[in-house]
Amino acid sequence: MTVVLVGAGPGDPGLITVRGAELLGRADVVVYDRLVARSLLELVPPAAERISVGKAPGRVEMDQSDINDLLVERARAGDTVVRLKGGDPFVFGRGGEEAEALAAAGVPFEVVPGITSAVAAPAYAGVPVTHRGVSTHFTVVTGHVDPAKGGSDVDWEALARAGGTLVILMGAGRIGEIAERLVAGGLAPHTPAVAVRHGTRPDQRTVRATLATIAGAGVEAPAAIVVGAVAGLDLAWFESRPLFGKRVVVTRAREQASGLRARLERLGAEVVELPAIEIDPIAVTVPDLDAFAWLVLTSANGVATLFDRGLVASGRDARALAGVRVAAIGPGTAAALAARGIRADLVPERFVAEALLDAFPPPSGSGARVLLARAEQARDALPKGLEEKGYAVDVLATYRTVAATPDPDAVARVSRGDVDAITFTSSSTVTNLCDLLGTLPDPQPLVASIGPVTSKTALERGLRVDVEAEEHTIDGLVDALVAALTR
Ligand code: SAH
Repeated sequence: MTVVLVGAGPGDPGLITVRGAELLGRADVVVYDRLVARSLLELVPPAAERISVGKAPGRVEMDQSDINDLLVERARAGDTVVRLKGGDPFVFGRGGEEAEALAAAGVPFEVVPGITSAVAAPAYAGVPVTHRGVSTHFTVVTGHVDPAKGGSDVDWEALARAGGTLVILMGAGRIGEIAERLVAGGLAPHTPAVAVRHGTRPDQRTVRATLATIAGAGVEAPAAIVVGAVAGLDLAWFESRPLFGKRVVVTRAREQASGLRARLERLGAEVVELPAIEIDPIAVTVPDLDAFAWLVLTSANGVATLFDRGLVASGRDARALAGVRVAAIGPGTAAALAARGIRADLVPERFVAEALLDAFPPPSGSGARVLLARAEQARDALPKGLEEKGYAVDVLATYRTVAATPDPDAVARVSRGDVDAITFTSSSTVTNLCDLLGTLPDPQPLVASIGPVTSKTALERGLRVDVEAEEHTIDGLVDALVAALTR
């Protein structure tokens, strides 16, 4: 039995510590605050219990004493309890009170510090809290007033005299009054002040002002407010990434979405995952591959299902492909093959069926056979074209794509039009998203398609296709999207 007070970091899920992530992966119970990144909960074992104790609209925040009791009770039941707290647990997180309660109850506890928003939010806004020649120290102070006490017990005038950098947390609602007191304490009205709301998150907003103007600058909670000469610095990097502030929908199946998601996030986009399809592998019997001249694969899914379900299930491995030449429709498929020890003999220059056919050599003799492993629902172009070239074609359906049941919040968000762009990586993602939503919101968000076949399906479903990838790959799609959104 133990409780670990873990700092979740300020919002960007990448800013949790290695130790924190490891402990989340071993938790029996996770007790978390509202501001912690939802995706961190994905690190928690599926069987573990997740208990939210944060304020949420329409729901009352759990009392601190109830939280303390909950931690004690769960630990005594023998569970490993992770108390996941925003930022650092001991910086205005009431982590100290929780540790006191645990100590008083004789429950062992550990603390895993986190990256505090007091430093990280300014950093993501391009403001270093100390800077050589500009500021020698920083003070982190709460702007919150204890309702029981009425007035603030912060001596703002003294802080003004201390100089250096002031980082104010929980002060958005009272910033006008705080700014006045700092000026009364001797800070110049033109002292730079920066408020960073939702720092380190895709929806980060930075308001740049001075002590004289910040009250009217529209500062909203939750924000970290920096006052002092460093707030005049603007070492912009996060907000200047090409897709910063753009909300992009990914419709690929959940298993496949991570590559596209990671690329978009690196460019600064907020990704809304709305998987329109799910991959449903078919229990196939893979024939003896020595009987074929070529094995043709048209997607990474096809590779995965052929190998991981078909070959492995029948006690075979990559050596079953020793005597057959292998064609892949594009680099994603080729990479999936390479991961299983197979280098594709043929990858066309453009990644569509027609280009594969153009690049395909004629059969060396009569009766040469091709095994085409692919989705159950697919176009006839490949088998037809290969037959026209003189091959005998066997089609092996290794998976089917079925409509997914996605997160209702994500569906509602896209239906509301609360997104900037939607990406489609195959015809089935178009068909299933349209079936799922009924109609796309009006005005339609930007639609980006991976290639001509996908675009055609989108047009048939009444969508406007704004951009089509020049190279029909995930990278090509991302390039096209960046060009369109930054135009
Ligand atoms: N323990 C937390 C602070 C908890 S108090 C930490 O170390 O960061 C909550 C206050 O922290 C908020 O009112 C706000 O002032 C600040 N805060 C938390 N997350 C923030 C973020 N992502 N961006 C800006 N400020 C944030």
